[in-house]
Amino acid sequence: SIEPVVFENSPALWMNDYPWPRADGHKYQRGHVLVVGGATMTGAARLSALASARIGAGLVTVASPGSAWAVYAATLTSIMVQRVDGAGMLDQVLGDDRKNAVVVGPGAGVSDSTRDYVLAVLAHKRATVLDADAISVFAADPQSLFDAIKGPCVLTPHEGEFGRLFSATENKLERARQAARHSGAVLVLKGADTIIAAPDGRAIINSNAPPDLATGGTGDVLTGFIAGLMAQGMDVFSAAAAAVWLHGEAATRFGPGLIAEDLPQMLPRVLRRLK
Ligand code: AMP
Ligand code: MG
Repeated sequence: SIEPVVFENSPALWMNDYPWPRADGHKYQRGHVLVVGGATMTGAARLSALASARIGAGLVTVASPGSAWAVYAATLTSIMVQRVDGAGMLDQVLGDDRKNAVVVGPGAGVSDSTRDYVLAVLAHKRATVLDADAISVFAADPQSLFDAIKGPCVLTPHEGEFGRLFSATENKLERARQAARHSGAVLVLKGADTIIAAPDGRAIINSNAPPDLATGGTGDVLTGFIAGLMAQGMDVFSAAAAAVWLHGEAATRFGPGLIAEDLPQMLPRVLRRLK
């Protein structure tokens, strides 16, 4: 078989798919991201939510456990908070199909409830980004995750999370590709070089990322960027590639001293230059 071409990430690859706001648009046409928030590490879900809002999602809601509701509600302003305790309630919340993109994982905790949340979300076949604990929680039975992936889905592991679900043989590009083919999800295998791989064999290598990104919370921002673009109707593979590039470009533009919060803050300047 002929090896599919591998591209170096650049705006030329996805600019034509980019969901710029329309002159006659309103917020309900720009998608609604639901971020499933954790009970204790609340900063992670808040970073994802903020990132989704900055990249243009019309509405963003954090699903908060009752125990953490006051934290989310007191610290989020343009982002809504909805109380959700358990997978049954999450299933009800997703009955509203205007919530068209979902994030699970940042700060979720490795627990049965995180696993139940992931399976409840995947059953709706909504555009879904699974990150961090939503990946790690399937370490004992990766196949049960792959079997549940039936809609557009992105997995965003760093090397540690990747190694819990997938074999660690061969080079990074081939590992990401095999994992994408095996899982049925778009794989974003993060690191100094990030590989974006689709189940059909397409792959993009992103090296537009400075080492300043190696700090807590930057991955949660990337997760939110991807979901925000998918909520606006961008194709799953293009959304992943665009989000990774914009994330790296925002970091490059910010430079030394970067913390995760700076990435959504820097994004408008990156987008203005791109448009
Ligand atoms: P996480 O591991 O989930 O916190 O995500 C970290 C983010 O920073 C990912 O987008 C990585 O690709 C990026 N990153 C981590 N280390 C480096 C590095 N040395 N150079 C460039 N990007 C990095
Ligand atoms: Mg992470």
